[in-house]
Amino acid sequence: MDGSDQGRPTPKPTSRSKPIERPPALWFDDGNNVIQAGNYQFRIHRGIFSARSPVLHRVFSEPASEETQSVEGCPATHLQDHGKDVENLLLAIYDPSFFEPPPKDVPVDIVLSVALLSHKYEIKPLRRRAILHMERNFPLDMDAFVPRCLDADLSENSWFRGLETMVNIIITAIHTNALWVLPAAYYYCTEMTLPRTFRNSPSWNDPDRVAILREILTGKIILDIMDVAYVDFLASPPCSGCLSRASCALHLLRLARGLPSWLTPAKKGAGPKYHTLGHWWNRKWLKEQHCGGLCTPCASACISAYESARDDYWDKIPSAFNLPSWKELRSLRETDLDK
Ligand SMILES: [Zn+2]
Repeated sequence: MDGSDQGRPTPKPTSRSKPIERPPALWFDDGNNVIQAGNYQFRIHRGIFSARSPVLHRVFSEPASEETQSVEGCPATHLQDHGKDVENLLLAIYDPSFFEPPPKDVPVDIVLSVALLSHKYEIKPLRRRAILHMERNFPLDMDAFVPRCLDADLSENSWFRGLETMVNIIITAIHTNALWVLPAAYYYCTEMTLPRTFRNSPSWNDPDRVAILREILTGKIILDIMDVAYVDFLASPPCSGCLSRASCALHLLRLARGLPSWLTPAKKGAGPKYHTLGHWWNRKWLKEQHCGGLCTPCASACISAYESARDDYWDKIPSAFNLPSWKELRSLRETDLDK
């Protein structure tokens, strides 16, 4: 599945000239129903799918009309979905090893297919599992998310690969009502996407995706403003209990003068610009290098200002992307996954 077409809820009509594909793993000799989606056909067992999905149960229960097509002696059911998405869903139902729960890594395209279609066809256990995979990569918790996205091996991990994949993840989260994965997903887009990637994105040609690109660009500006406020914790005078006012003041002045260089990329447009949350992530570095020249009370004041600055920053990320607060998102998650 290519990155640009996956994740949309409804496919464009496929060309009739495309040859029919019948994946062998989903063509059972004793199957009693053929599902057709795009140019894909699957010969499956009606009873298995009726038991899993109330929606498909209704579809299969409809009496066959005279126009009902028959394929190799089986009634054919047409689904308005991408063939590859349907293939991933059917494999997830038939083969337990194809779609295991986290912490098993499952490629992003499989998870998004299963998320969209299990939501649409009300296959609750698969929907829940797909959403757990999405939130594992884009969690609600800062300490789970930031190290994961800073350490992601981009060549290995399909989840953190490129703007189009990220837009697919965001679209799928919106369609499946898993809104709590959105703040981290949007945040990651603003941090890792180069300006030219935005400009050249094929998503500008699709109205649904344009809304997401605009949200990313606006959120990026808001995070840039938050970056300026965040580093205030570094630009403070010696604390009230300071043991060495002259030397702490000089050290703090040097640090404050260095701040503008943290806020602007070295070369304009040369590479991704990390937001301050990621830039100042390493507590050990902060304690040893940054606070190394301060007296003990000033160093503790700096560390506690740092902790509260990062908490404030994370708290504000949902509002930067016009989303409900973390508290509301947590409550939405509990209600949804407990169902
Ligand atoms: Zn001091």
